[in-house]
Amino acid sequence: MTNGHGHGHREKEPVAVVGAGLAGCLLACYLARSGYRVDLYERRSDPRAGTPERGRSINLALSERGLDALRRIGLEEQVMADALPMRGRMIHPVAGQLDFQQYSHDGLRAINSISRGALNNALLAAAEAAPGVTVRFDHRLTGLDPRTGEMVFATPAGEVQVSAQVVLGADGAGSVVRSRLAAHHGTEETTDWLDYGYKELTVPAVNGEFALDPGALHIWPRGTSMMIALPNPDRSFTCTMFWPTEGPAGFAALRSPAEIEDHFRTHYPDVVPLAPDLVDDYLGNPVGRLGTVRCSPWQLDGRVALLGDAAHAIVPFYGQGANCGFEDVVELDRCLTETGGDWGRALPLFEQRRKENADAIAEMALANFVEMRDKVASPVFRFVKSVEHALERALPGRFVSRYELVSFSTVPYAQVKRRVRRQQRVLGGAAAALAAGLAVGGYLIGRKP
Ligand SMILES: Cc1cc2nc3c(=O)[nH]c(=O)nc-3n(C[C@H](O)[C@H](O)[C@H](O)COP(=O)(O)OP(=O)(O)OC[C@H]3O[C@@H](n4cnc5c(N)ncnc54)[C@H](O)[C@@H]3O)c2cc1C
Repeated sequence: MTNGHGHGHREKEPVAVVGAGLAGCLLACYLARSGYRVDLYERRSDPRAGTPERGRSINLALSERGLDALRRIGLEEQVMADALPMRGRMIHPVAGQLDFQQYSHDGLRAINSISRGALNNALLAAAEAAPGVTVRFDHRLTGLDPRTGEMVFATPAGEVQVSAQVVLGADGAGSVVRSRLAAHHGTEETTDWLDYGYKELTVPAVNGEFALDPGALHIWPRGTSMMIALPNPDRSFTCTMFWPTEGPAGFAALRSPAEIEDHFRTHYPDVVPLAPDLVDDYLGNPVGRLGTVRCSPWQLDGRVALLGDAAHAIVPFYGQGANCGFEDVVELDRCLTETGGDWGRALPLFEQRRKENADAIAEMALANFVEMRDKVASPVFRFVKSVEHALERALPGRFVSRYELVSFSTVPYAQVKRRVRRQQRVLGGAAAALAAGLAVGGYLIGRKP
């Protein structure tokens, strides 16, 4: 774990990290590398001992931003050992041919399907093995005074009070650290819930083989709804339905086994023979909610700060939530290095640099839902993608598509937005000039001498 960054243990009092999820565990690893002692508090029991939660996003797509963060601390290889690269989208129409659309112009770049549980466990093990990190399971934060750093935890042995000079909230979308900042210190928070929820289904392996192409992220775009599927190392696929929660095409409307089967036969006919437990999965798995959390400020007095979903939960349609949380960790580490470990300067600097990027990916993720559930199925979308790829080949490094910049680069999200807007203006201008040229040309050709 050490690679020359270790400075011995800097602080007498450990830094408290609340939440041993993806961001919290990686953060503990980075802080330990810089010589901090860390107490990592987690409300759950050790997940490596029990069975995973059912129906809670079994796998996720990890791309360059997340990999970069893991690479910097020597964890990429281990995490990638079980990853399944997906080089494009496979579109499943209701009837007719499947349509594979590669993500990059050369067809070589891939996003990676990773088991959420395995990733969390690997990061937990790395955090535990790092010098100076103590993981405290079964500690659910119930109270925090952000001015003093005094925390209250509910544990199986009763209430425990602890105080820390620095408290970092990596406790996810429903963050208690955030709600304490809001209650005491004017942090304003909003959650915009989508009228859509998600539910998972399993497509098991058939005779030990994948039932669908494991080299793609599968999409069933159905206009106002969609389903996607990502491969798992055991050769199954986890399908996720993103449907309206209410209304005639929503989760609430489908209740009986006959209705469920009928709906799938009509809208997802190719999945029915591949998902023998369809009805049981549908009836047994919960509907998860989807929303965007925005809040500000993220930190108070260099003492308490939020990161990951706690600061900026986003909808999952760009596959960037965890990637963005990992990027937060890299940036916070950078701010600490740049300020010589001065939390009073590092935390405001962290927020200043990350906030606009979190806002940018939140917006792009919402926009990508429409793209995935609707546009990917249209010939216009195919055409636009083929033009983008042609431009990327013709103007290497000068024209880069939004998808490429988000998924295959570490260009800050806010810069991605600005750059794509600039490219679109230039392209719009070029297209207009071309159209005008064609019109003038047509006029000249059409004119009788
Ligand atoms: C359906 C779906 C699909 C997704 N797909 C992708 C994808 O493809 N790619 C991607 O990058 N991201 C994806 N995401 C987003 C990703 O899951 C999150 O962004 C990521 O898990 C955030 O990590 P985190 O550590 O900030 O929060 P979490 O992973 O939520 O971790 C928070 C931790 O804090 C603990 N905790 C909570 N409250 C307390 C408390 N009071 N006291 C102590 N501990 C507490 C929790 O038990 C948990 O361990 C997806 C999300 C969903 C819902």
